[in-house]
Amino acid sequence: MTTKIGIIGAGWYGCHIGLSLRALGFEVQIFEKNKRVLHEASGNNQFRLHLGFHYARHHSTRIQSRDGFMRFIERYPGFSREVPDNIYAVPRLESLIDFQTYRLIMSSSGLDYTETKENNLGLRNIDGIIISPERVLLIAQARKYFTESLSKDLQLNTDVTNLEINSKNIKINGSPFDFVIDCTWGHFSSLPINCYYEPTLLLYYECGTQFPALTLVDGPLGSLYPTEDPNIYTLSSVPHTPIGRYKTALEARAALAALSQQEINKKRLLMEDQIKYYLPSFGDHMRYIGPQFAIKTKPVGNADDRSCYVFRSDRLMTVLSGKIDTIFHAQERVLNFLETALTGISMRAESSLRREIEIGAF
Ligand SMILES: Cc1cc2nc3c(=O)[nH]c(=O)nc-3n(C[C@H](O)[C@H](O)[C@H](O)COP(=O)(O)OP(=O)(O)OC[C@H]3O[C@@H](n4cnc5c(N)ncnc54)[C@H](O)[C@@H]3O)c2cc1C
Repeated sequence: MTTKIGIIGAGWYGCHIGLSLRALGFEVQIFEKNKRVLHEASGNNQFRLHLGFHYARHHSTRIQSRDGFMRFIERYPGFSREVPDNIYAVPRLESLIDFQTYRLIMSSSGLDYTETKENNLGLRNIDGIIISPERVLLIAQARKYFTESLSKDLQLNTDVTNLEINSKNIKINGSPFDFVIDCTWGHFSSLPINCYYEPTLLLYYECGTQFPALTLVDGPLGSLYPTEDPNIYTLSSVPHTPIGRYKTALEARAALAALSQQEINKKRLLMEDQIKYYLPSFGDHMRYIGPQFAIKTKPVGNADDRSCYVFRSDRLMTVLSGKIDTIFHAQERVLNFLETALTGISMRAESSLRREIEIGAF
């Protein structure tokens, strides 16, 4: 008998996990409340295919990104492109770690980069620069592919309002499934670790020529990164992009909805001032075209943990997505849980070695 799996949310996680499970013979149905896939966080972010350079302070996030990057370009070769001159610069004063330590962390994590002394951009207040081979995600390609390949297994415009678990199955809005995977980033069911919801504001800029990408690391700094349109960039800032911290997704949505044009303008000035301190020519190249809004879920703590976690409680699995490159990690955890549930064999085995030595079992 085919195992039926319901998935809530058609972001990167729901779509990728759904396709992967279907390829393994599971019957899959994905419920998405919006009118198209990749409409929320997956379609509103900095579109960076991370390799780990952003996460100097969190080892497992870095390793998940490094491995996920390789798998992503192999599995989805048409969904990203190179970023020429992708600069990571370590500021002299504001960075939480110095350039030498930053380089050491990246090298010891097996990340390849090129060090450069060239500074054609006129960057100032910088301790050192590397060029990273990270890529940019092509969301329109991905959206088209997922919509066409999931086709009849995708229910758009369907808000999941009810989840009911009993001994035989788990029901989404009344329809029974063997298992449900909540891929809403903790927006539908609650997460078993301490998290908060953060509404975010990024800014879009237009640039007439191809401009390098610039990321300032590590700590409360900013970054300028291209999008799938080579003339459109996003500006992001660790201190100014967040619009508060909230206990529930609902509160975060309300805060985003209440954000005034005045507050956006204020944040824009702060974000532009921050980047101009390092890149004085920012205003000569970039013309503001509009804001981008999203909500992220983050584990509480200051280690900058953006790893991906999957939790299981009975027939319900809940995904806390990390970055887009960590979709493979999530897919494997889901398969582990399904294997355990369907075969009845627990992956954990207590060691009986001591007992066997004592009774001379060999
Ligand atoms: C400002 C910002 C910048 C970021 N930059 C990057 C970056 O550069 N690179 C990177 O890799 N990652 C980045 N991220 C993280 C990345 O966006 C997320 O890891 C990823 O999009 C999460 O995908 P998801 O499928 O888990 O969530 P989502 O894309 O949010 O998908 C969840 C889906 O669930 C649906 N949903 C929710 N509730 C219900 C319901 N009740 N019924 C039906 N459907 C429901 C939503 O409509 C949504 O479509 C960034 C995030 C933010 C916010």
